[in-house]
Amino acid sequence: MEQGILIVISGASGTGKGTVCKKLLSEMPEIYYSISATTRKPRSGETDGVEYFFLTVDDFKQKISEGKFLEYAEVYGNFYGTPLYKIEEHLKRGENVLLEIDTQGALNVMQKCPEGVFIFLLPPSLEELYSRIKNRGTESEETLQTRFSAAKAEIEIGKKYQYAVVNDTVDAAVEKIKSIITAESLKVQRNENIFNAVEEDN
Ligand code: 5GP
Repeated sequence: MEQGILIVISGASGTGKGTVCKKLLSEMPEIYYSISATTRKPRSGETDGVEYFFLTVDDFKQKISEGKFLEYAEVYGNFYGTPLYKIEEHLKRGENVLLEIDTQGALNVMQKCPEGVFIFLLPPSLEELYSRIKNRGTESEETLQTRFSAAKAEIEIGKKYQYAVVNDTVDAAVEKIKSIITAESLKVQRNENIFNAVEEDN
């Protein structure tokens, strides 16, 4: 059986990654979404094991030393990491896996899993990005500025990805990502079994 596709989506803070990924998963429920671990405190409405696995810094560091993460990074003063074992299990079963991670983490995954599909989500403009972060209302003025500066730096790193998707409307962005996944799943390198089956028939 062919391995599933590792799909990595990043985008600067306020680009709407969370909303886009949720809609994508509702339309393609066969994709396995990897729940990350973090040392950040839960925001209101967030549940342990749903949005994230919320860990203490000590527990997180313990897992790093045990090699339990595919990648991890420090983002805005908190640790975030992708648990390794479930991902391997699902990919081996031929299922596609989605990671929604920051650019530092994604650059590490590019090294470790070059066969992955790397998609960078962009805001329609920087002005729009600033007002989206602000309107979210979850940040203090100081973290708002930090996130906006980090967002601009992240957009620069986006040039290293394979695909760029502008999130002007969620529906259109999701359609584009679905097209990318369809095209990637049809690549010859991912479908050697189809050739074998056809050749055996003749
Ligand atoms: P938030 O705190 O707003 O949920 O996420 C902050 C940032 O951390 C986002 O850019 C998000 O993509 C990133 N992030 C979430 N999970 C992971 C992870 O497992 N690894 C890395 N490297 N970044 C992550």
